[in-house]
Amino acid sequence: MARYRGAVCRICRREGEKLYLKGERCYTDKCAIERRPYPPGQHGQGRQKRSDYGTQLREKQKVRRVYGILEKQFKRYFEMAEKMSGITGENFLQLLERRLDNVVFRMGFATSRNQARQLVLHGHLQVNGKKVNIPSYLVTDDDVISVKETSRKSKKFKEIFEYNSELTSPKWLSVNMDKAEGKVLSLPDREDVDLAVEEHLIVEYYSR
Ligand code: SF4
Repeated sequence: MARYRGAVCRICRREGEKLYLKGERCYTDKCAIERRPYPPGQHGQGRQKRSDYGTQLREKQKVRRVYGILEKQFKRYFEMAEKMSGITGENFLQLLERRLDNVVFRMGFATSRNQARQLVLHGHLQVNGKKVNIPSYLVTDDDVISVKETSRKSKKFKEIFEYNSELTSPKWLSVNMDKAEGKVLSLPDREDVDLAVEEHLIVEYYSR
């Protein structure tokens, strides 16, 4: 299955909330959901009636799209979460948060998860001093994530650092923007996931 290449803002409009997929633009009045806060398409403004299944599906799609993951891989995370000890829904969110592209975004080395994925794919990021160009790489305690020495001086990264200069990173990460480097202090808790999500709906969706 191909990656979604359509208009990104349609995704937010479909889910009925801002998912912050476009970085800077999401904080301006150009945001599509501010202008057209109803689902896209001919019947977007019609009456919306949702079944339990529809509600579970929308919650699953929302989270999948926020993290920019294809269905097959998303389901694989769920299966991994089921095998872990603890609460499946929380394990699931923790696995998503631990993805390298998400961590790069959360550390402020990108303005959106989409951009973080591109930067990782293009080899600008290192884990423990070694290049890692796999966005789905799962970080663990004590991992050090850094922007490659040659990349951090580029115009793109200078703009990103400037844009994120006021950013506060979550408590499970520590970031040194001057060194373009961050460390994973611990694995993320449920409260570290700053997304309004009812993960039990996703568990119900996959447990049908
Ligand atoms: Fe979503 Fe950002 Fe587009 Fe607004 S600008 S609709 S938050 S992706």
